[in-house]
Amino acid sequence: MSVQEGGPRPKAGVLEIAPYVPGKSKATGGAKTYKLSSNETPLGPSPKAIEAYRAHADQLHMYPDGSASALRQAIAHHYSLNPDHIVCGCGSDEVLHLIAQAYLGVGDEAIYSRHGFLVYEIAIRAAGATPVVAPETDYTTDVDAILGLVTPRTKMVFIANPNNPTGTYLPFSEVKRLHAGLPKDCILVLDAAYAEYVRRNDYSAGIELVAESNNVVMTRTFSKIYGLAAARLGWIYCPPAIADALNRIRGPFNVTTAAMAAGIAALQDTAHTEKAAVHNEQWRGWLTEQLTAIGLTVTPSVGNFVLVHFPDEDGKRAADADAFLLSRGVVLRRMENYHLPQALRLSVGDEEANRVTVQALSEFMAQKK
Ligand SMILES: *Cc1c(COP(=O)(O)O)cnc(C)c1O
Repeated sequence: MSVQEGGPRPKAGVLEIAPYVPGKSKATGGAKTYKLSSNETPLGPSPKAIEAYRAHADQLHMYPDGSASALRQAIAHHYSLNPDHIVCGCGSDEVLHLIAQAYLGVGDEAIYSRHGFLVYEIAIRAAGATPVVAPETDYTTDVDAILGLVTPRTKMVFIANPNNPTGTYLPFSEVKRLHAGLPKDCILVLDAAYAEYVRRNDYSAGIELVAESNNVVMTRTFSKIYGLAAARLGWIYCPPAIADALNRIRGPFNVTTAAMAAGIAALQDTAHTEKAAVHNEQWRGWLTEQLTAIGLTVTPSVGNFVLVHFPDEDGKRAADADAFLLSRGVVLRRMENYHLPQALRLSVGDEEANRVTVQALSEFMAQKK
């Protein structure tokens, strides 16, 4: 029980939060486990990032630089931004919480899309605000559906672009149309966790829009293409007034010294990032083709994962496929929490993991009920 009679009560919204369920790590069988449930990079981080992380082991007794100055400089240099408009955090999850805490409260509404990232709902409720869910079209964020839900209470709109877990994206023209339709006091949060993987001419993570508006922010992470998920490193690019608000409420030392050093080294190793993007492009295409060929439906993805839809038939459902794969050592992500009970999300793995997964799914689809 979370609340006992007469005992302490969490504030409004907290007990309505369904706790975030991370991807499983353990299989039930197979000689080897292939974890393809959390969109981690199969290439790992840059060896230079690992070296930089290790190099800080003897400074564990020293507080980190609370302003994350060197990391902000490195990010600013890499992405051509103003370092004063960047706030770093313990993963982008933390910066998503910070923006919600600073700008949302009881009585406010915040919109996200039906199959959008689960952290948005948690951050909205934790701030005491009311989540409002916009339907999607073809598993893609629907700008008109979002605009149709805007009321004078709407203070924030979250979109992941590309979206996790669907892998779809909005062209920049659509993002701009969304922004143009929002009230001036409503913040548009562009979560671009997978931006480095996208190779489309009509895509933009939103840097231009942040720079020219006072109500758009973009969040980024070192957890995906940079392979530093365990280091917990994310950041937000935002107007200076928003950066000022976030800096007032964040923990004064919310990013560790070793993580910052690893992040800086990872940014500099552009050859490693490029290798990861090329690997992803090749194998995401291969996985999509192979899975389609065996009769599964794959939502076209621009991220480092694909959403695979299973038939709603006895013995062939997503839950059956999941059990079958686990017995072969292959761990994917179940999608019930994302309102996609007949789908599994598959992260692009290394060649061996991808081949083992396709082989197992071919056998699963071919087996008699
Ligand atoms: C993985 C992911 C993040 C990154 O979270 P971190 O806290 O930085 O590890 C953010 N947004 C989306 C949509 C993601 O899928």
